[in-house]
Amino acid sequence: MKFKLIAFILSMAGSVIPQPDKYEPVRDKMVKTQIQDRGIFNIEVLEAMKKVPRHLFVPKEYVDEAYNDYPLPIGYGQTISQPYIVAYMTEALKPGKKKKALEIGTGSGYQAAILGEICNRVYTIEIVPELAKESAARLKRLGYTNITCKYGDGYKGWPEFAPYDLIIVTAAPETIPQPLIDQLAEGGRLIVPVGPASAVQELILITKKNGRTESKRLTFVRFVPFKRL
Ligand code: SAH
Repeated sequence: MKFKLIAFILSMAGSVIPQPDKYEPVRDKMVKTQIQDRGIFNIEVLEAMKKVPRHLFVPKEYVDEAYNDYPLPIGYGQTISQPYIVAYMTEALKPGKKKKALEIGTGSGYQAAILGEICNRVYTIEIVPELAKESAARLKRLGYTNITCKYGDGYKGWPEFAPYDLIIVTAAPETIPQPLIDQLAEGGRLIVPVGPASAVQELILITKKNGRTESKRLTFVRFVPFKRL
């Protein structure tokens, strides 16, 4: 009995213990109508999106809109992505419980939390100091012990923990930062919106096989610009 309890506690490590909240039915509906019905089938992605309390990642005045089908402002001119885009990008990265992820653009910390539910470890970098501080505190408060946050310019990646099985960039650079390609593991996947700041951008998926990279254009998107320090 004691052993079973310890095994259970260990199995929860790095994962949030679900707290019932009044948004649960709204969250389930969001996953069904905005995500599943649009063709996202990865069960781990669907489960993570059902579990992470998105309303705790948006400013107070937007809490009631947190599960709606659009991005929301998070302050400092930045946005939390539309739920479907988060699910689409996460699925494209083929996440898994043995994988190590790097995110550039922590923002609210929501995408990091989704990855934290599925992957072994997540490293995430944010260039706006206030957002870096707020999201690190939020992820800690929610119990994500497998997510490490830092403030800085993500252009150079995070060489200390490289290589990464998956890398996600949630702000749009005009060209893909080479250090991120270099820090991708063999068999790894990198997803990044590429294009000019004030126009539509293209979501690009880079895969690395036998040391060579292949690039695939997925769809058109609109992200906030990638900044440099
Ligand atoms: N993934 C976020 C979405 C944030 S929007 C979420 O789930 O909420 C994109 C974020 O990228 C912004 O917070 C912006 O400040 C940040 N950003 C832009 N350029 C960056 C850079 N060079 N390095 C790190 N973060 C950057």
